[in-house]
Amino acid sequence: MTDTSNSASTAAYRIHEDARLEARNTFGIAATAPMLIEVNDSAALPELFGYAMLRDGPVLVLGGGSNLLFAGDPQGVVLALTAQRIAIIEDDGETAVVRADAGVSWHDLVLWTLGHRLCGLENLALIPGTVGAAPIQNIGAYGVEVRDCIHAVDAFDRRGGSMIQLDNDACAFAYRDSLFKRDPEHYVVTAVEFVLSRTPALKLDYAGIGDELQAMGIDTPRASQVAEAVIRIRQRKLPDPNVLGNAGSFFKNPIVAFDVAEALLAQHPSMPVFRVKPGSESPFS
Ligand SMILES: Cc1cc2nc3c(=O)[nH]c(=O)nc-3n(C[C@H](O)[C@H](O)[C@H](O)COP(=O)(O)OP(=O)(O)OC[C@H]3O[C@@H](n4cnc5c(N)ncnc54)[C@H](O)[C@@H]3O)c2cc1C
Repeated sequence: MTDTSNSASTAAYRIHEDARLEARNTFGIAATAPMLIEVNDSAALPELFGYAMLRDGPVLVLGGGSNLLFAGDPQGVVLALTAQRIAIIEDDGETAVVRADAGVSWHDLVLWTLGHRLCGLENLALIPGTVGAAPIQNIGAYGVEVRDCIHAVDAFDRRGGSMIQLDNDACAFAYRDSLFKRDPEHYVVTAVEFVLSRTPALKLDYAGIGDELQAMGIDTPRASQVAEAVIRIRQRKLPDPNVLGNAGSFFKNPIVAFDVAEALLAQHPSMPVFRVKPGSESPFS
């Protein structure tokens, strides 16, 4: 990556011209961004989006590049949020609100929360990418979706030109979907707040977690041991992007009417089926 001596670079952001992106996407595609801006302080976003190039041109917000495929060089500006803070901002002894900057690695956040004996994210261990991208497609795995723990999302509103906070309802989360995904030109997620509990409510009945814990010789697991079981299953099942470029699964579970599911089950009794949560489109019970 070329580090320009562009005088617009400040402590809050750095500008790179002709930035190579192959280490910034899990397919390892050798795309080049005409301009990459690394933003360390999201307070600089209103200023940056005041420049015509960002205000009017295409802008790609890039996290860990684990859920996209470059089909050529991106047009316009690529924006990467790099702030890395994690902090407990509220704590009543039973539940706590943890705030993490968009640039934090998702898996690092999961480990951080477990290290602070806060439960809720354990089933989402080892999902690649950043905290800032987690709400975009409402990441999910092993019976849990991130929306279950999201308290609020801080974002820069590109249309309004200001920083805003959206509560969980305002994010309009659905199965691998959200307001942010449906309207990608509108928001830059700058931080996410999670509400987590000190009393574990472990979800163990999904896709082999119980079997894995048994194989580990654990009858009454702690949240950190559930994460360990998830990590072991994922490492066995999923290709490591460092070895084989990929962007994870691109299938979504189809959502069908109950009678259709029953008819399919009659034909294929071993087919996995999950009930859609009442009032949502999520195929997780
Ligand atoms: C091996 C592997 C396994 C995976 N397993 C799972 C899984 O179990 N469950 C799951 O849900 N996903 C999974 N994924 C997909 C991926 O990890 C998630 O979608 C993740 O949230 C992407 O994060 P990222 O930072 O890499 O986002 P990127 O790929 O960089 O970006 C993805 C999208 O989000 C937008 N975006 C990124 N950051 C921001 C921001 N701060 N503000 C606004 N928009 C932003 C981008 O513009 C882009 O449209 C997997 C991927 C891989 C490679």
